[in-house]
Amino acid sequence: MEQVHAHGLAIAFLNTQGAFEDPVSAARWWAAAQDGMPGTLVLDPEVSKPRFDAGLAAEMRSLQEAALEAIVCRDAPGASAMAVLSAGLARGSLRLKGVPPALVFSASDGPGAVLFPLAHAIASLLGAGGQRLRRCAGETCAAFFWDGTKNGSRRWCRLSCMERARAPRRRLQR
Ligand SMILES: [Zn+2]
Repeated sequence: MEQVHAHGLAIAFLNTQGAFEDPVSAARWWAAAQDGMPGTLVLDPEVSKPRFDAGLAAEMRSLQEAALEAIVCRDAPGASAMAVLSAGLARGSLRLKGVPPALVFSASDGPGAVLFPLAHAIASLLGAGGQRLRRCAGETCAAFFWDGTKNGSRRWCRLSCMERARAPRRRLQR
């Protein structure tokens, strides 16, 4: 279960569609997505607050594109995707703060406060290996999810996808 939480932000980022088309929905997405941030990675309160504008929304789109390429083509990711992700990682830094020590991040600027944690989440997901990262078996759904089951048998991203897949079979049995 721990790992579901650890990769929640990365998986939410990969699965999001259309939220980065404009600054308002990008801001709304970010506000909600921070719930998926690992509990140990917190924003330094002194960090500059991101201002959502067309530029930041565009950077989120290209970071997401790079993230999808890196995850899907894990064995041969393109150099430009890797460069975009690395540039995201360069927008901030991690350090330990307080007692007991907590991992906090600070960003080089406002946009970095969004781009760094997203790039960091994707990098952690890449580093975690692909065995537990799966795509939903639903016919009309290709969402990523983290399989936290003991035997690695989970096939659907959520209950409704499982129910939809099983419904036709149930009808046939009647
Ligand atoms: Zn699904």
